Amino acid sequence: MKIGAFEISEIITSEFGLDGGAMFGVVPKTLWSRQVGVDDQNRIDMVTRTLLLESADRKILVDTGNGDKWAEKYKSIYRIDWSRFSLVDGLAKKGISPSDITDVICTHLHFDHVGGNTRMENDKLVPVFPSATYWVQAANWELANSPTEKDQASYLSENWGVLAENGMVKILENEREFLDGIRFEIVNGHTTGQQLPIVSDGTTTLMYGGDLFPMKPHIPVPWVMAYDIEPMTTIAEKKRVLPKMVEEDWILFFEHDPNTAACKVVKTDKGYFGGDAVELDEGTR
Ligand SMILES: [Zn+2]
Repeated sequence: MKIGAFEISEIITSEFGLDGGAMFGVVPKTLWSRQVGVDDQNRIDMVTRTLLLESADRKILVDTGNGDKWAEKYKSIYRIDWSRFSLVDGLAKKGISPSDITDVICTHLHFDHVGGNTRMENDKLVPVFPSATYWVQAANWELANSPTEKDQASYLSENWGVLAENGMVKILENEREFLDGIRFEIVNGHTTGQQLPIVSDGTTTLMYGGDLFPMKPHIPVPWVMAYDIEPMTTIAEKKRVLPKMVEEDWILFFEHDPNTAACKVVKTDKGYFGGDAVELDEGTR
């Protein structure tokens, strides 16, 4: 799919599983278990999915997934599996090498979004994308580097420390305009300073759902994750963007939904829900 100057495609970079109760907050399992696959330890089937934006002079990634630096203990807690997918392999299938990537937009620095930023090479952390600038919002950068008790398990500096040492991180001070055709929706309910890219040419608009809309079942306003630091803020943020999505027929991209890469949003008298799936590209799944 093309939007303005950008060719849009998706790359699944890993499979994993997080606790279904944590993923759906106050929603009872009797409801969410009808919509997602769940294992005997209550983990639901999830993926990490990167958005690739290619123009004449940029190759931009939005988030990089779980990466492959995991110790066996955590790999098994989060059921992280990169045997079928990886970001570097997904790029190779498109004829792109890691050094071709010009920019990595980090929506926020939680491990399942930036784990693929760095890798181990001879016991040393190195950037996966050596020519890239990694973009992050200042508010998220500050929180990630001094997390609270609630979110310290999700912010692991191995995913960005070496990038900062090499001068590859650009901190954005609440800027919403990124490039011609790409702007950010900045949201603070899930974590502070999450930036969600919106790609638009004025006719077609795609929003990266990040952890505001991680999966298709998270479209209804009250379906909010227990991970969120300010759930009422998330609710207000969903209510702010959902009417625009329906009115302007946006495409919503899902980072974590194993079955749906993107869909339209519909409003009924019962609220907002996922509509028709949108096929972004062929041959990547
Ligand atoms: Zn997150």
